[in-house]
Amino acid sequence: MALSPLRRTLVPAAVGALLLGTLAPGAAAEPAYDLYEVHGALTAQDRTEIAATGAAVDQVGDDSVLVTATPDGAAEIGRLGYGVEEFDPPVPLAGPDPGYTTYDELLGVVDQVVAENPGIATKSVIGRSHEGRDLVAVRISDNANADEDEPEVLFVHAQHAREHLTVEMAVHLMRMLTEGYGEDGRITGLVDSREIWILPNVNPDGSEYDMAGTDWRNWRKNRQPNRGSSALGTDLNRNWDYMWGCCGGSSGDPGGVTYRGSAPESATEVRAVADFVRGRVVGGEQQITTAVDFHTYSELILWPFGHTYGSVVDGMTAEEYRTHEALGEYMAEANGYTPQQSSDLYVTDGSISDWLWGDQRIVNFAFEMYPGSAWEGGFYPPSSVVGRETARNEEAVLRLLDYADCPYRIIGAEAAHCG
Ligand SMILES: [Zn+2]
Repeated sequence: MALSPLRRTLVPAAVGALLLGTLAPGAAAEPAYDLYEVHGALTAQDRTEIAATGAAVDQVGDDSVLVTATPDGAAEIGRLGYGVEEFDPPVPLAGPDPGYTTYDELLGVVDQVVAENPGIATKSVIGRSHEGRDLVAVRISDNANADEDEPEVLFVHAQHAREHLTVEMAVHLMRMLTEGYGEDGRITGLVDSREIWILPNVNPDGSEYDMAGTDWRNWRKNRQPNRGSSALGTDLNRNWDYMWGCCGGSSGDPGGVTYRGSAPESATEVRAVADFVRGRVVGGEQQITTAVDFHTYSELILWPFGHTYGSVVDGMTAEEYRTHEALGEYMAEANGYTPQQSSDLYVTDGSISDWLWGDQRIVNFAFEMYPGSAWEGGFYPPSSVVGRETARNEEAVLRLLDYADCPYRIIGAEAAHCG
């Protein structure tokens, strides 16, 4: 993951102040979020320090990173001693691409999949977004209306609004699993023996907002107001109730791109999804064994923890770590992504990944999908890549489903863990 060399002169840290100065006094209030290239960030510690300003680190290179930040956030990064320049996306972004699935279109796809596959697909509404949109879960399994004693697998999509390719991934999975049922022996066997939950868009307010302008809005958070601030939104993936806000891996500033919220699960959507996951505990046992949380971009497979640089730490034994690592590497062989522990990039706290493992003991991964870099479109690749880049993850997903009966099988530790 190397960034291309500089194309423009470094802008001093004062750029943030200058940009701020362009706002008329009393002008609106919602901070603008822009892309910046930050130079001199060599280590995970450097990147964590940058992220701690409230910026979202979008792409990691050998000695630089791309971030989304407010102008004053960019100025703060400059004051830490890094070189900061505004970043113009190299690919012209032609505004919302009609090839991407809107929320209403997604509901239509879900209804169609369920209508066409009544024996294996069901839809439920697990809650509502802040603005009142349904948070939908699609369950795919044989005997769709029975809660059988089968290992369950969870797929979460679009925590981050602008990561629209993850919604396309959900659409692809729904179609792959239902169209393949009865046609493809491997898919049929997995649908018969697992209960598969797809949450195709857990941040519909954010993704609709991101698609609603004449240009993409580069929006990441949800759209929930924050008391005492004009800045909207919580970063859903910093709001989960495990080591929330512990470690400098999120922002306490409502204007920050990675604002962690006023309390764990303060985001309406996080509370709904967390309640849903807790609801899968049956007879004292969490039925969900494995999960993937889909994001873009950078082509990575990440595993917990994110809140610490350590691998074997409180809450993660050596066997548990090796299970995540081995499954992550096995899936990465299939899709060509780079497998690594989340904190190899930078520290994050309050992520769903840390919660799913730390609180619910679900072996889980974050997939950072296509593209590898901003030079190929960043968050907004053309929709012409959707078919290729969602199909790319089929085999990796099937491998995870294969191991859902006992993920520890991948390191030969099934006797100790799945007896
Ligand atoms: Zn994301």
